[in-house]
Amino acid sequence: MVARMPRIYTERYSIILCTMIFSGIWQIFCIFSHSPVDHSTIGFGMGGIIIFYFSIFYRPLKLLDHMLSDIISEIPEALFVFDPNGKCIWVNETGCQMADIQNEIFEKAERNLIPVFGESVMNHQNWSDKKTVHNDTKVQYYALESRSFTDERKCLTGSYLRIRDITKEQKKLKKEIYNATHDILTGLYTREYLYQRIAELLQISKHKHYLIIFVNVKNFKIVNDVFGKAFGDDTLRIVADWVKKDLSDNCCYGRLGGDTFGVLIPEEEFLPKQIEKELSDFVIRKKNADYQLLIHLGVYSVKSSDTDVSVMFDRAHLALSTIEDDYKFHIAYYNQDIKKKIIWNQNICTQLHEALYKRQILPYLQPIADRTGTIVGAEALARWIHPEHGFMSPASFIPIFEKNGMIAEVDKHIWRCACEILSRWKTESKNLFISINISPKDFYFIDVLAEVQNLVKEFRLSPASLRIEITETVMMNDADNRMQILDSFRKAGFIVEMDDFGSGFSSLNLLKDMPVDVLKIDMKFLGKTEDKSKAKTIVRNIIRLSEELGISALTEGVETQEQYQALSEMGCELFQGYYFSKPLPIEEFEKIV
Ligand code: C2E
Ligand code: MG
Ligand code: MG
Repeated sequence: MVARMPRIYTERYSIILCTMIFSGIWQIFCIFSHSPVDHSTIGFGMGGIIIFYFSIFYRPLKLLDHMLSDIISEIPEALFVFDPNGKCIWVNETGCQMADIQNEIFEKAERNLIPVFGESVMNHQNWSDKKTVHNDTKVQYYALESRSFTDERKCLTGSYLRIRDITKEQKKLKKEIYNATHDILTGLYTREYLYQRIAELLQISKHKHYLIIFVNVKNFKIVNDVFGKAFGDDTLRIVADWVKKDLSDNCCYGRLGGDTFGVLIPEEEFLPKQIEKELSDFVIRKKNADYQLLIHLGVYSVKSSDTDVSVMFDRAHLALSTIEDDYKFHIAYYNQDIKKKIIWNQNICTQLHEALYKRQILPYLQPIADRTGTIVGAEALARWIHPEHGFMSPASFIPIFEKNGMIAEVDKHIWRCACEILSRWKTESKNLFISINISPKDFYFIDVLAEVQNLVKEFRLSPASLRIEITETVMMNDADNRMQILDSFRKAGFIVEMDDFGSGFSSLNLLKDMPVDVLKIDMKFLGKTEDKSKAKTIVRNIIRLSEELGISALTEGVETQEQYQALSEMGCELFQGYYFSKPLPIEEFEKIV
């Protein structure tokens, strides 16, 4: 049984057996020697000590030693063990492969490690380091660690050097860092990383004058919608290549999001004339068809490197608002006027609720006359009687509220005021209508139909006395749903008017399907056009067309008697314009009807 046991136990029991046999022989010898002193006790004592030492200390220690050396030999890290003089006394398997040595020639390990990792590897102190080693074909990364050992009297007993190949981890880490800091589609920096890099660059070169540039592809949505996402992606790559094309190492650039890019560039390297030239004809090609991309640049000149980078880009972005859909100029600069405009917009927005509550915003009424010149109704046009800025026309606040959605608040207020007036007229037996303007943006924020219907119910009005003015832009989004809403308005007895017909890209085709009762022809046809006879022909034909479609025609902007007469002869039924009156405060309007 002992022979079949692991060697450690075989050895251990063999020693016990031998000691016992020896003790037995010693005992027999003592008995037969008839010595007056019993030497057998000494023999048993010695035997006990030997068994104790070999079975309790020596063998387990040797076993531990053996197992540890096996474990260390097999670990994937290279391990070099040195004596106090720095002589290599043991190298594990990986170490041998790394230093390209046979197990027994340890000195060679030192000679082979120094050229690869430098002198420090033979420095027998405690340290750790990371090294990049460039081989002919590839780059390897290693983590090095050296530890020295001392005894209880602080005398050096030896040291070891551990070398771990961390190439895989390092490459994975680098890839993860790259993915986190670079945009997958274009390979440029992500917005967050770009902001961080710019902040660092501005901090280290404070004396240099830099520009922040916000690049926006204005008509990218159309590219995506018309040509598909794959072509949209190609387009973004083309724009990204253009953005980084001529930039030096002093610049920093990245993709801010969707179709926007950001650049930090030293002022002297920015060449606006060249850029304008390139952008005036920035064409992308799809199956032999050229498509012109509209790219705009907003520029902010960095004043202080301590300003938040996101704020700088916000300002560069704001500069873009000054060139809306311009194909002529592609670069806009942030300046004090823009800053003032932003502050103005903010003030206006914060003051809105108080203004509505205090009735500083109210409708003025502009008369609408029929062919006999009789005033049959009015259009309610918003005015803000501002305590500080005085009389404000809608052009100074409606576009601001249309952008941020607060327009619905203004409109609801004006509609309510119009209903109040109509309700009073009803008691005074004044049989006039009021047209209210409905912004296309209202449909995003409120249930326009329910809102207007509730008002009419609340004030007990006939729906026909409250006319609904919409513009054709209402149909630009969600056309089917909007058609249904207009249809519901008509079915409920309201009269629907299409405002500013001819001012945008009015489609006569649209008119065929639009559920409207009145066509309000834009005043631009009556204005100072170069070719008056052509404008006249257009108006005549629009009126004729509306007649044939069973839609009444109303012309806006009638300023002279000649215009009024000519339009009457053409068949126009209703008229609005300064010839009759400007928009008036309610009391004044009531005086003239
Ligand atoms: P709109 O609805 O087309 O209103 C007609 C505009 O033409 C009014 O400008 C009116 O004062 C002006 N106008 C009328 N007759 C003449 C004329 O003979 N000659 C000239 N040159 N102009 C004339 P206003 O009041 O400045 O309103 C401008 C626009 O603001 C309106 O155009 C309308 O789109 C919008 N708006 C006005 N009030 C409101 C409102 O309460 N809600 C909404 N959503 N928009 C409103
Ligand atoms: Mg109108
Ligand atoms: Mg109009």
